[in-house]
Formats: sequence, structure tokens, C-alpha cells
Amino acid sequence: MAVALVALFPTSAAPPIRPAPPLSPAMPSGRDSSGTRLVLLGSGTPNADPDRSGPALAVVVNGAAYLVDAGPGVVRRAAAAERRGIAALAVKNLRIVFVTHLHSDHTLGLPDLIFTPWVLEREAPLEVYGPPGVEAMTHHLTAAYEQDVRIRLEGLEPANATGHRVRAHEIAPGVVYRDSNVTVTAFAVPHGSWPQAFGYRFDTRDRRIVISGDTRTTEAVVQQCAGCDVLVHEVYAQAGWEQLPSEWQRYHASFHTSAVDLGRLAARAQPKLLVLYHQLPWRSTRQQIVKEIREHFDGPVAYGNDLDVY
Ligand SMILES: [Zn+2]
Ligand SMILES: [Zn+2]
Repeated sequence: MAVALVALFPTSAAPPIRPAPPLSPAMPSGRDSSGTRLVLLGSGTPNADPDRSGPALAVVVNGAAYLVDAGPGVVRRAAAAERRGIAALAVKNLRIVFVTHLHSDHTLGLPDLIFTPWVLEREAPLEVYGPPGVEAMTHHLTAAYEQDVRIRLEGLEPANATGHRVRAHEIAPGVVYRDSNVTVTAFAVPHGSWPQAFGYRFDTRDRRIVISGDTRTTEAVVQQCAGCDVLVHEVYAQAGWEQLPSEWQRYHASFHTSAVDLGRLAARAQPKLLVLYHQLPWRSTRQQIVKEIREHFDGPVAYGNDLDVY
């Protein structure tokens, strides 16, 4: 099954590095205060696999949740994680998301993340960090739901006046967010013709977690991980790719990372755990994908599924 998605966008020069932002107040804490956890909310791709929501992850630390990407299904999967005991992922607690890039499979859940938690009584605006263009995207989304917001605010519904708002932050590579729980570093990754796509590194008291976002294999991930606790990386099956028509081979080789290349990368990045997500297996099995990674990397590998916790 091929991803039915071809994106052609102009390229532009890299933006200037900005100084690190000041310390933000920590996200409010819930009760669960065990060590940092990574929750895979959605492990999917544009393929509408009912078992795999669109790409979305949560780094949960000290009872606060920091999301990466908002693929379709993100809010329902967060609610499912709360039912499994992760209080930080209660829907009304979803208030900050770091967007890797603006492809629809990573952002179709944004209106859900903006409005559903508000309807469920979140009072804080949603903080959205992402590449240039994310501000326009959230602006258009809030304009699209203008009538909904008006009816809820001016009708009989006891809605608060602030939780439907968005604060969009267009970022450049470097430290983009910091509070007493986490330091979040964005790094540029090559994702085909996108002028700007990011991976993110989360440093907390007890863990370093690196999330590739969508990218072909890149030295940036090796440098950011450098022995990190968890590397979450996208992947496609090399054997499956070899069966594709040549135009799709060209697309995937420019936008994404094969399992063989990911094995090579992991051997140098040396994560303590490599988690695969955004998998494109085509006709390969998960065992075959892991075997392709094993050609070069012999460390721990997990084939991620929705709601896995690491
Ligand atoms: Zn994607
Ligand atoms: Zn993408």
C-alpha cells in the first residue's frame, strides 16, 4: 500500500538561529510523578489504518504532557492513554504541542486539539510550536470554526472565553522551549521538498528522548541522539520499497528513511532503545523490517504501536 501523498514545495534558505527562550512556567502537574515516559499516541502514516492513528507522541514528565505532532485521532488516543492510568493525558490537560512539519498526516488533529479540550473545559489557550507557516495554519483553522466558537460563547453553553485560543510560535533550530520539567530542542531535518521540517530532542531530569519526525537519514539525528535513552524514528521497508514504481521510489528516498539506512544511523547514534513509528512496510512484515535494521544495529529495537509506553 503506497502513501498517496506527493508534496512539491519551494525551498528556501535556513532561518537564522535564535537565542534560547527564557524559562516558561512549568505545565501544571497532575498526580503521576514517576520518571519521564514516552507515550506513542499515533504511530501511523497517511494510510487510514484503523489500528494506527496519525503521528502523535507525548512526553510525560512530572504529571505534565508535551505533545509532538497532531495526527488524526490524537485526542481520542490521549483519552485512551488517560484511561490506562496516565492522568497527564486527560483531554483538558492537552495544552502544548510541538509540530515537526506541516504535512496533513501530522496536523489533521490540530483543530481537534484546539477545540475539543476547550469544550471539555480547558481554560488555557493551546500553545503550538512549529515551522514557519504554523501560525497561518492555526489562524485559518480558528477562522474555519468561527461559528462554533460564537455559538458556544454566546449561546446557553457555559463555555470559558479563553480555551479556544491558540498561541502559535514559529521556531528556528535551537532550544525552543524550557520549563522546570523539560528543555526542548528543535533540529532541522531533510524531508524532501519541505523548506523546513524539524525533529525534537527532549531533555528531562532523567532522560533524553529524540524524535525524528519525517526525514530521510540525516547526521542531525546522530548528533542529537548521541547515546540518548530513546530514539523514535520513522522507517520504511527496504524490500517493500524495491517493489515500488520508480516515481514512488524517488519520492520515498527523498522524504523518508529505509530500515537498512536506519540501522546504519542507529549504529552511530547508539540509542539505548530505538522505537520505530510512522512505519511503511508495504508487503514486508515487522520482523523483516527489524531484520533490515539488524544488518547494522544490534541494540534494542521496538516496533511501535499506538498507546505503547516507553
Ligand atoms: Zn508523515
Ligand atoms: Zn511528512
